[in-house]
Amino acid sequence: MPTGGPRGSDRAAETKSSSAGTCQQTSPRSGIDLSPAPLQFFPVTARDAAADLAARLSRAGHTAYFAGGCVRDRLLGREPKDYDIATSATPRQILELFPGSNEVGAHFGVIIVRHHGFHTEIATFRTDGSYGDGRRPDSVEFSTPEEDARRRDFTINGLFEDPPSGEIIDYVGGRSDLQAKTLRAIGEAADRFEEDALRLLRAIRFATTLDFDIEPTTWQAIVLHAEGLRRISPERIRDEFSRLIVAPKRARGLELLVDSGLAKVFFPEVLDLIGCDQPPEWHPEGDVYIHTRIMLDLLPDDAPLELCLSVLLHDIAKPPTRTFDEGADRIRFNGHDALGARMAHDILRRLKYPNQVIEDVEFMVSRHMQFMNVQQMRTAKLKRFMAAPTFPLELELHRVDCASSNGFTDNLEFLIEKGEEFASEPLVPPPLVNGRDLIDLGLKPGPRFKELLEAAQTEQLEGRLTTREAALDWLREAAR
Ligand code: ATP
Ligand code: MG
Repeated sequence: MPTGGPRGSDRAAETKSSSAGTCQQTSPRSGIDLSPAPLQFFPVTARDAAADLAARLSRAGHTAYFAGGCVRDRLLGREPKDYDIATSATPRQILELFPGSNEVGAHFGVIIVRHHGFHTEIATFRTDGSYGDGRRPDSVEFSTPEEDARRRDFTINGLFEDPPSGEIIDYVGGRSDLQAKTLRAIGEAADRFEEDALRLLRAIRFATTLDFDIEPTTWQAIVLHAEGLRRISPERIRDEFSRLIVAPKRARGLELLVDSGLAKVFFPEVLDLIGCDQPPEWHPEGDVYIHTRIMLDLLPDDAPLELCLSVLLHDIAKPPTRTFDEGADRIRFNGHDALGARMAHDILRRLKYPNQVIEDVEFMVSRHMQFMNVQQMRTAKLKRFMAAPTFPLELELHRVDCASSNGFTDNLEFLIEKGEEFASEPLVPPPLVNGRDLIDLGLKPGPRFKELLEAAQTEQLEGRLTTREAALDWLREAAR
């Protein structure tokens, strides 16, 4: 019968020996354990850091609340991106309490305080003055917490929290909207979007990332004022759009952009996908817009930006390349991959995406049709194809491309198998021969060099050349 005794003592012996093996120090004379108590390390969170700042403000006699997104996110059980504090202290008083902090350039009186490695924005309760340009208030006035809540964009973003007690202060009905998963503008929706047109896109972004419904009056105001987005800079549009397109509900986000009229302002090309019909035998799901939306939905929740953008743009050139082949009695989209790559480039450049993102997406769009031919590729070509740094993302693009249309999986399975087969060595190993060898063979540098070395690499990738000696012999023959 099993007993606890021996096993228990075994475990004790084990623990002892393992601790002796790590850091136990014993005084040679007294035999007393002198090792320091193990260091307790409590990591300070962004919330701790912000709560500490609020406590200091409050000890100095000011009101200080967590405000906006961080309150919303905590109530939703999400990790806030950053913490903002709203306070009755004036900017001068904030700076006196936290010397060395920085005032945010564009927003008068907003101070960024760095504490425990976290940046917290501290702003005095304020009302915004008039918005002359549809982007920014011309002036701000310091005011009460209630007025500060009312100048914010959406009710779910208008909540305060008293940090020590966790009490929620709600002047705008944000709590019930959070519970009902409703996005609602604070105050007169139409006025709020007219004041600041970025809110149009923020509304769709929050509805997408949080998967909230947009309250009807707010929605109507967005539709009415959609054109106002033209006043907003491409960089600010890009930042909101990127957050929307990487969200798990990105397909719904795209639909909201299209239906609201906002897509027309900064991404009109997508509208042409609607009603662009395709051969039903290849695309039983419907037109290019439907196909693209299904693909966006099939991506993993955490798909990276480049993948989401390449799915969105992979068939963007189908409308301008669409022809009807009378002989074959079918619709064709010849060259939509090459033109699509150029269009993707232009669209992303217009939205001021970084060069690397543009290059990657353009490349992925340009190659998406090649996945249909992988089983016919010679080994060297296949290895070069698979060696592209974007290949894992392209494989995912191909997977959702098929899954949302014909359901074929043979090319995908073939590539996964080949990936395993080739896994033991680099897809494109260091070359066996180089330009120096050609010079030694008496050749003069020129275009022929590149051709010969590429041909030698092909032989190597095909597995026909495995040693440098063999490669040199081959080169000598080929160079003759
Ligand atoms: P996230 O940080 O996750 O994007 P957030 O709600 O914190 O969401 P921020 O841009 O950090 O958004 O802004 C903080 C708060 O400032 C918002 O919650 C909102 O109360 C207010 N705010 C931000 N932008 C605007 C705006 N354009 N109009 C009105 N209020 C705004
Ligand atoms: Mg925030």
